[in-house]
Formats: sequence, structure tokens, C-alpha cells
Amino acid sequence: LTSAEEAVLNKIEEKEIDFLRLQFTDILGTVKNVSVPARQAEKAFADGIYFDGSSIEGFVRIQESDMRLVPDSDTFSILPWRQSEEGASARMICDVYNTSTGEPFDGDPRYVLKQALERADEMGYEVNFAPEPEFFMFEEDEDGRATTETADYGGYFDLAPKDLASDVRRDIIYGLEDMGFEIEASHHEVARGQYEINFEYDDALATADNVGTFRTVVRAIAAEHDLHATFMPKPIPKINGSGMHTHMSLMDESGENAFHDEDDEFNLSATAHSFLAGILEHAPAITAVANPTVNSYKRLVPGYEAPVYVAWSDRNRSALVRKPAARVPAASRIELRSPDPSCNPYLAFAVMIHAGLDGVERDLETPDPVQENIYEFDEAKREEYGIETLPSNLGEAVDALEDDEAIYSALGDHIASKFVEAKRQEFEEYLIDVSEWELDRYLETF
Ligand code: GLU
Ligand code: MG
Ligand code: MG
Repeated sequence: LTSAEEAVLNKIEEKEIDFLRLQFTDILGTVKNVSVPARQAEKAFADGIYFDGSSIEGFVRIQESDMRLVPDSDTFSILPWRQSEEGASARMICDVYNTSTGEPFDGDPRYVLKQALERADEMGYEVNFAPEPEFFMFEEDEDGRATTETADYGGYFDLAPKDLASDVRRDIIYGLEDMGFEIEASHHEVARGQYEINFEYDDALATADNVGTFRTVVRAIAAEHDLHATFMPKPIPKINGSGMHTHMSLMDESGENAFHDEDDEFNLSATAHSFLAGILEHAPAITAVANPTVNSYKRLVPGYEAPVYVAWSDRNRSALVRKPAARVPAASRIELRSPDPSCNPYLAFAVMIHAGLDGVERDLETPDPVQENIYEFDEAKREEYGIETLPSNLGEAVDALEDDEAIYSALGDHIASKFVEAKRQEFEEYLIDVSEWELDRYLETF
């Protein structure tokens, strides 16, 4: 065992942990758990834990269903809301291996992200990501089912007493801090009942792990207060939806921010400019992965601070990519505003990294930034500026993914084909459904 693994064993002993939850995600980003008695930890590190993968979304065919989970000792943390008299639980995030070949399983989203990071590493970079997940908290009905009634009527940065849910948010933050998160900021978002909690940037793998943990902790602690926290991108029409803006930068081998250049008008290095250009070029295909639900496209419409047009800017919030003003100059980074918190963070980050690195490898140049409000442009003006539009629904996004070889192949054949199949089916089910809107509009008219 490594010394980090030994340290985990000691912690388990010292904190009297009884159960270990071994976690991984399926292709859709849902966190899966295999719970084992904590005394199995040593065996888990040494040999892995075997499980049947056939019941996991898009994992394997039945006949090749044996998988092996190997926990990553860096991800050990004690679950704060599971400490009772019966004993405490801890979790570790795992890599998935194929038992017949002994190789990493190519249907494991974490492996897809690791491969993206390996490509960056070969080019001499480490990748830092920081996400800004937004979510709503809703009341539950008498049966404990989620409603879309919000728990408060506050607005952006409102403070108590209007922000009734701030107690819940405080508990959520304590819970996250107990699990090792460095919380940077938390605020009420623009919509009623909507919140954002930002955590400190980290390497992209740790950040993807954190997003999964974040969603679990937020939902669990909201539930303790009889509230339903949701990461659904657009639960209420005609008000802001929930995004997961993602800040990105590369660090070079000497540990310097490779995105920073003092002399550039935007303080962005040539590397940052080409990375940004790569993101813009592959934006339609990225959308399928970063905005993977039918509902995601109800958010990506003009007028609600969500991006619709493929452009960048150093100030305006209608652009797809923004160069945020850095508090310290060396913190130059770019913010992609399209992702939403329903995505699988491993896959979304992987395609973003591959898109950017493709731009760096090909020395792509950024177009001019667009400083006006693009929501107000008409088609002629967009054409004049050469501004493209993001896919307007899940079907178009999946088409774009299939048409973009660099992004499709970034997912690996196994995941790419399962993902496309699942998403096409989801979109077709949606297309043949008859919605509330249609009934309201037509039932009595015709
Ligand atoms: N909620 C907005 C979105 O859908 C973002 C608001 C903000 O700029 O933080 O992306
Ligand atoms: Mg926000
Ligand atoms: Mg932001």
C-alpha cells in the first residue's frame, strides 16, 4: 500500500468508521455507491472490490458484467450527515477496472477525464478548474414530493430576513467544509429560491469529484430541512435557470499560470487565446455533453444571463466565454458559461479540455471579443460579426457531437456511442410527448 493509503487505514481506525461507501458515476453522472464494511478497506486498496456492473446505466453488456472498483485514497472523506451512535461512514471515489482485461474500464467517466489530463500533461500543462454550480431549493408537498414552490422570495445577494433559506445554506456550507471543501462564496442568485455556492479551484479531476460530492451534500442537507434542492437547469420558465459556469486555466511545468500575459490587452497569453479559440470552435459539440438534458435547452435562451451565441467577451454576460476580471493579475482564466449542473462533470470537463488543447495544438487565433449585448443583435448583425448560435435543442446538440470527430473521440467509443444512443432516445421520447403547454393552448381552442 502507498503511504496515502496507509494514512486512510489509520483514519478509519482512529475515527471508528464502520462503513465505506465506494463511489463512481455512470455515464449520465449519477453517483453510484457500493457499501462495504470498513475493515475491507485494505483489501479494496490492494485488490479492489468486485461488483456486478450490468445494472449500471450504460456500463456493460450482461455477459461481461464483472467490474472492479479501486478507491482513490485522495478522495477519502467522512460523511458528516451519517454520524450516529451506530457509527460513522466515509466515502472514497473509485476508478473502475475491467476484470477480464485488468485495464481501466473505458466506460468509466473518471477514466475519460484522466485521459484528457494525460494529454494536457504530455503538452506540459496541468489543468485547473473552478465551477459555479447554481441550484434551486423548493418546498416539499405533504407526501414529501418536490414542488416548484420556492422557500423564499429573495433576490440577488439579498440578506435575511428575505432569504429564509440562509439557515439551510449555512448548514450546507458547514457540511461541505466538513467534507474538506474550501468555500469561496455563497449567495442568493437572481431567481427566487435560487442559490450559488462557489468552491476553490483545484485540478480538474479533484474538481469533477467535488461536483459530484457537492450535489450529494446539497441535496442531503436540504432534505434534512424538508426542502428539495434541484440541479435541474430550468425548473421555472421565464426566470433565470441554473448554470454551472466553469473557470479554466492551465499551469505550466514551473507552476506558473500559462494563461497569464501582462502585456496582452486582456492579460491572456497566446496559449489562453488558442485554448479559448478551441473552445469556441468545438462549442456546439461540447454543448451535448455540458448540457445533456432536454431541459438544458430551456435555459440556453436569450434574456436570462445564459449563453446562446458563440462569442467571447471580457465583460458581458451574454457571451459564451467571458474573461473575468482577476483580483490578482496572475489569476488570469477564462469562464465557460454554458455548462449546467445536470451534466456529468467528468465528461463535460474532458471535452472542454480536449477542445481547448486542440486549439492550443493548432495555434488557433481568437476572434475579436464582442462587447455589446448579443441578445439584442438581429440575425443580420450576428452574421456581420460571424457569430454562431449554440444548438437549440438536445437533438441538434447530439448531431453536433456526432459531427465533431475531435470531441466525439475524446469520449472514447464506448461512452460516445452509449451517450449518443441514450440522448437520442431521451429526445425522441420528449418529441412524442404532449406537454402541459400544448393542452393549455389547444385543448379548448380546437
Ligand atoms: N443563472 C445564470 C445562468 O443560467 C447565470 C447567472 C450568473 O451570471 O451568475 O447561467
Ligand atoms: Mg451565478
Ligand atoms: Mg460566473
